[in-house]
Amino acid sequence: MLTKEQLEKLEEQLTEEREVLAGKLAHQNPNVDFGDDVDAGDEEADEAEAFATVLGINQVEKEHLLDIEHALDKIRKGTYGKCEHCGQPISHEVLSVEPASRLCKTCKALA
Ligand SMILES: [Zn+2]
Repeated sequence: MLTKEQLEKLEEQLTEEREVLAGKLAHQNPNVDFGDDVDAGDEEADEAEAFATVLGINQVEKEHLLDIEHALDKIRKGTYGKCEHCGQPISHEVLSVEPASRLCKTCKALA
């Protein structure tokens, strides 16, 4: 079980991480213009490829942000720190490295 102090520290970590990520995502323009002019040829293809790369990074960060939101939600509900797979408490060792972790060490190893 987590102590109150540990939980408060983790919540702080999560909140900070969320702010950094949300700030980053907000700075990336979600309405990137693919270009309407079909004449551009190769140049457009390069642009699309570059955009896909950006999207790839975006996706990972977005998912991480969702995990963080999810963890903060669990803190509010009082279910934080429990493995979503087996229901066992997640050790502080795991949470201190990855506060948004949904799984305990055992389930993580099996996943
Ligand atoms: Zn588990």
